Amino acid sequence: MAAACLLAAALTACAPSPPSREAPRSAPSASPAVPSPPTLAPGPAGLTPVFDHGPRTGGRTVALTFDADMTADQGPRAAAGEHFDHPRLIATLRALKVPSTVFMTGRWAEEYPDQARSIGRDPLFEVANHSYSHYAFTGDCYGLPAVSGDRMRADVERAYAAFRKVGVRDPMPYFRFPGGCYDRQALKALVPAGVTAVQWDVVGGDAFATDADAVARQVLDGVRPGSVVVLHCTRSAAPTTERAVRRIVPELRRQGYRFVKVSELIAAGGRD
Ligand SMILES: [Zn+2]
Repeated sequence: MAAACLLAAALTACAPSPPSREAPRSAPSASPAVPSPPTLAPGPAGLTPVFDHGPRTGGRTVALTFDADMTADQGPRAAAGEHFDHPRLIATLRALKVPSTVFMTGRWAEEYPDQARSIGRDPLFEVANHSYSHYAFTGDCYGLPAVSGDRMRADVERAYAAFRKVGVRDPMPYFRFPGGCYDRQALKALVPAGVTAVQWDVVGGDAFATDADAVARQVLDGVRPGSVVVLHCTRSAAPTTERAVRRIVPELRRQGYRFVKVSELIAAGGRD
């Protein structure tokens, strides 16, 4: 519960005054030595705040984010040898020293506990929440089965519990809606979870892509200062991502971009 207190005390660069909502009761754990992660102040009417990009001025920063998708019913496919993980992508990010945010499903962490722990304990990365089993938080979201409103908070907390169980330290209080689908009801349902919803402003288009160059081009064409780029850490569904990253990273660095985690963009003050 120390983390809950820390979170409640956390002021964000965007918040003119401390968030007034109660501390989340099941917040991600953090040791007292770890600074509280930056979060956004509650949105209009006290709803869960939504972040989609950082400042457009004041420097060229960009956050690459990787969704580690896995649905509850994909366990048998994983058991049959399908790879929902992507160790080579993680190795490349390490080799290129790219700070990144991994939005992990609880189900992925359970399927790949060693990798989840390794990512979660590497200061190059931060682990954030992508739901427990990648069910949708709205009724109509790319055909995904939906979580009912009264189960939304529990789903998010179940993912945090999965992270803690496999040894991920200090998962971030950031939540990415499966499919990016949300509405007012979902933002309201997640208020007690104490998360900041994190969307993106650049779609990598790597899901089911077969052309790494096309993915790289789409990212390079879309990135602006403060951008949040969504890509995937799921080899079976996004097999070209690692190759695309090897093109994207040196090119953006050549353009003067610095890679940061989502927390740094949020701390920098959100949008302008
Ligand atoms: Zn996803």
